[in-house]
Amino acid sequence: MRLATILTDQGPRACGEFEGHYVDINHADPRLPSTVREILALGPEGVRAVAEALPRGGRKHAPTHPGILAPVPHPAKIVCLGLNYRDHAAESGMDVPSEPILFSKYATALIGPGAPIVLPEASREVDYEAELVVVVGRGGRDIPADRAMDHVGGYAVGNDVSARDWQLGKPGKQWMAGKTFDTFAPVGPVVVTPDEVPDPHNLPIRLKLNGQVMQDSNTDQLIFRVDYVIAYLSRIFTLEPGDLIFTGTPPGVGMARKPPAWLKDGDSVEVSIEGLGTLTNPVVRR
Ligand code: MN
Repeated sequence: MRLATILTDQGPRACGEFEGHYVDINHADPRLPSTVREILALGPEGVRAVAEALPRGGRKHAPTHPGILAPVPHPAKIVCLGLNYRDHAAESGMDVPSEPILFSKYATALIGPGAPIVLPEASREVDYEAELVVVVGRGGRDIPADRAMDHVGGYAVGNDVSARDWQLGKPGKQWMAGKTFDTFAPVGPVVVTPDEVPDPHNLPIRLKLNGQVMQDSNTDQLIFRVDYVIAYLSRIFTLEPGDLIFTGTPPGVGMARKPPAWLKDGDSVEVSIEGLGTLTNPVVRR
């Protein structure tokens, strides 16, 4: 199942992809919730119920609908891993970490497909990062690694937009500040449930800047894998349905290029992960 959140005249509504359109899930079956977060909380049974409901009909939206939001527009948490691809750690001049490097973004940074990444006045070094985003389904604390995949609600395409002059140039290296300017967390267009993603650790991932390929890798290069990350994080805090986990970026970021390829007004950034879709965002200066 491919789940989207679409802003309609009734507010944000959870939709499921069916025969090339997005169908409003709660319209198709009023017993089902109207938010993606609540649907993910139901686990695989919820996804099956959605799959049964969609053919009954309901309000339909075109895949080109301008109101497609980030699939979970207000998650309780957005957790991110830094330096989780070996080659990216090397190009950043940093050691391959022995444990996950964690930082966070706030929900105010989230945008959906087509929405502009806004370059803030406060930064002159804004960069892109193609990432696989894990969306938590059932929540939990102290989840053992061998049960961790049962807590995955789905996967999405993300872009960990980063102000490098804040992340690395401020006293103490302000990773969180540099990563969570408004609009710095594009995600979407959909959450794809695990039944449609046989192996999250073998997905080609690519980023194009103005049509030119800048990152081209595979999630088989991840240092800390999805099950390990879920177990690790759940030892620190309770994972809740709809939480987003950005899993890190492969090599090819703008910072590592000579000269650096900072995002500029008028750019277009396109992130694709095989089976999950393509996330395109224009870039504008505030
Ligand atoms: Mn990142």
